[in-house]
Amino acid sequence: MTGHPSTDEALLDDTLAILDDLIAFPSVALTPNVDLVAWVVDRLDGVASDIRLSHDPTGTKANLFATIGPLVDGGVMLAGHSDVVPVDPADWATPPFTATRIEDRIYGRGTADMKGFVACVLALAPTFAAADLKRPIHIALTFDEEDGFHGAPVLIDSLADAPQPAAAIVGEPTGLQVVGAHKGCYEYTTTVTGMDGHSARPSEAVSAIHHATRWIDGLLGLAGELAARAPADSRFEPAHTTTNVGTISGGMARCTVAGECAFEWEMRPVQGSDAGFVKARMAEVEAGLAVEMRTVYPEAAIETEIVCEIDGLEWDDASPAIDLMRSLLGGDPPVGVVAYGTEAGLYQAAGIPSVVWGPGDIGVAHRPDEYVEVSDLASCLTILDRLPDLLTDNG
Ligand SMILES: [Zn+2]
Repeated sequence: MTGHPSTDEALLDDTLAILDDLIAFPSVALTPNVDLVAWVVDRLDGVASDIRLSHDPTGTKANLFATIGPLVDGGVMLAGHSDVVPVDPADWATPPFTATRIEDRIYGRGTADMKGFVACVLALAPTFAAADLKRPIHIALTFDEEDGFHGAPVLIDSLADAPQPAAAIVGEPTGLQVVGAHKGCYEYTTTVTGMDGHSARPSEAVSAIHHATRWIDGLLGLAGELAARAPADSRFEPAHTTTNVGTISGGMARCTVAGECAFEWEMRPVQGSDAGFVKARMAEVEAGLAVEMRTVYPEAAIETEIVCEIDGLEWDDASPAIDLMRSLLGGDPPVGVVAYGTEAGLYQAAGIPSVVWGPGDIGVAHRPDEYVEVSDLASCLTILDRLPDLLTDNG
């Protein structure tokens, strides 16, 4: 007996076809993504009531903000990033930029993080458009999330005169578990400039490495105070703000006083005030070191470049975004916290209550042989398909 595929099967087929196309764009962070965005704009032609693009200064990277339904406040934003982390094809069993189905998994870079979610949203877009929406569904797609979160702030700036969403779902891979909070992610590169010289006469030079280690020692020395500052009701593990120095480089040879030293470090604040605390304390440490260094070499310097300062997603029991997930999922789903950063913190800080929820496992993201389960995509479709029912009144 043969029959027509059910609507659900047709929707899943559409999603898989869209995912094929999305994976084929090698949209590695910090490389152009305008081709991918143009492709999405084409797909939304006749579906979206408004599409606004915002670009980086080079014009080679774009954010997309599309609205389906009326151009009014109070809608829901489905948010993703268009970029992926780099690959080394030698580590992959399948070509990373070809979506490859093996049994019930789709392999390819970005399948989990997070083109699978984007494919679900784009496949549903015509369904959303056909509904009698009184409040809109927005699709947000950013560039360069994976390397410094450069796109989302540009997108947020571009929305000043756009309809204000009442809530956002950021579709990072959570295995379809609702995530209501994550730590912030603040990343820096600090460069210490001293004066090189012969190691036999260290007092006539200024070792950048020696001063860098003292700066780092100051940072690591804050651990106890940061632990003590953790909110009593912190949901994170560990409960407090952490710091890490991840790389360090400098110097030329064992017998040379190092003229320069640079190190990359981060902190993951559980609350915004901790970032201010760390910065204030490190400014004191730095001022002391600079005075010492400049008595020998007036041009000595310690400079810190901000790579990114991504706000955490702060827990809010009364968040409209968590209410939205309760309505979509039914009942009282568990709401968790995660240790990785997402754009949800930026959206929340911009006044859009946000949760993180999407198909795929974060454990396979950023790794060779990244995949998403077809069953996760199917569940994602089933749940997002309920969204129009929540938006057919005036809120
Ligand atoms: Zn991601």
